[in-house]
Amino acid sequence: MKVAIIGAGIVGASAAYHLSRRADAEVILIDKEQKGKATLAGAGIICPWASHSDDPDWYRLAKEGAKFYPELIRRLKEDGEHRTSYKRVGALCVSDRPEKLDQIEEAVRAKKADAPELGEVQRLDAQETRRRFPPLNEELESVFVSGAARIDGRLLREAMVRAAGKNGARIVEGRASLISDGGKVTGVAAGDEIIDADQVIVTAGAWVPELLEPLGVRVNVQPQRGQILHIDMAGKDTSDWPVVLPQSSHYMLAFDDSRVVAGATRETGSGFDYRQTVGGVHEVTGEALRIAPGLSSGTLREVRIGFRPMGEDSLPLLGKLEELGHVTIATGLGPSGLTMGPYVGYLASCLAMGEETGMDLSAYHPLRGAAVN
Ligand code: FAD
Repeated sequence: MKVAIIGAGIVGASAAYHLSRRADAEVILIDKEQKGKATLAGAGIICPWASHSDDPDWYRLAKEGAKFYPELIRRLKEDGEHRTSYKRVGALCVSDRPEKLDQIEEAVRAKKADAPELGEVQRLDAQETRRRFPPLNEELESVFVSGAARIDGRLLREAMVRAAGKNGARIVEGRASLISDGGKVTGVAAGDEIIDADQVIVTAGAWVPELLEPLGVRVNVQPQRGQILHIDMAGKDTSDWPVVLPQSSHYMLAFDDSRVVAGATRETGSGFDYRQTVGGVHEVTGEALRIAPGLSSGTLREVRIGFRPMGEDSLPLLGKLEELGHVTIATGLGPSGLTMGPYVGYLASCLAMGEETGMDLSAYHPLRGAAVN
């Protein structure tokens, strides 16, 4: 079976990687150079159990996404890919209100029976909280969730694409468009090349609507700009610092190279306006310093900008588009794409191969609330 995949963000890279491990699939992965790819800007927090979302369909996919990681990392190692950056550093859910922490602790503990991978849940006083993430405000106490992890989306994406290539996938650079005959998709045009395909998987993130529009199909996905700061904490060993989750859409995490990442804006309605704005940097800096004043001496190394693919609700768009023949859509992962992306990419690969996923995907149908002209 010849499968063409459009878009090599975390979702497309995973679909390509998983298909490349199969003997019955010939894989072509097409990606276009452009600014604002979400995977390259994503923070990399994997901790669905402490989320504010109470949508069971969101949680189901996010939980499975987090659980999928250790096995994925193991497989990548088998394929010679050791530089994935995945690390279980745990998460501190912080607050200065003990009653709020009581609620979080209870909610996370309640999930443990069904999700043992979330690890240990521990209540920490202000001193211990700050020992684990030294720049923090000294008023903050926490609930620590040991199973939480972090990932550098760039490294993981590269590892999966490289491994897919080693396993025989063809990687094509260029802007892809869908080719159809009588309303059914028959392949992909990429640069000067026409690629006939038995199946096409569309994993082009926030750009999926512009691929489908020429075929008269509208999906509800919009770009939401996120601006995120990378701060150099020279001389500090940040490699084991946990993720910090205050009770807002802002957060912090650290990587091995004395780097703290503080995010992020959620700019709905931004369009594809790729800019670092004064307001965005002010918002993220203000929130970061409120939670962790110790970051003020750090060096602002970089502001990354990415367009989250946002659906109308919090759920991904995942499924086959029978209207167009052999097309599978996987996008709309919004703020949770690094958590769910590898798993969703794997599910998309199963759908393209005509296999049961063992999961009821009806809640994620790509055309819910949208129209075919
Ligand atoms: P993308 O990564 O955008 O990839 C789409 C790809 O398709 C791109 O490479 C693009 O070039 C390609 N493409 C588009 N059109 C075409 C075409 N016509 N031809 C060829 N190629 C095409 N998630 C978490 O779980 N945890 C986090 O902590 C987290 N933090 C985030 C922080 C920020 C600031 C942002 C922006 C996002 C964050 N996310 C997080 C969300 C996550 O990054 C995204 O949901 C995820 O990366 C989306 O992946 P994707 O593969 O769908 O899209």
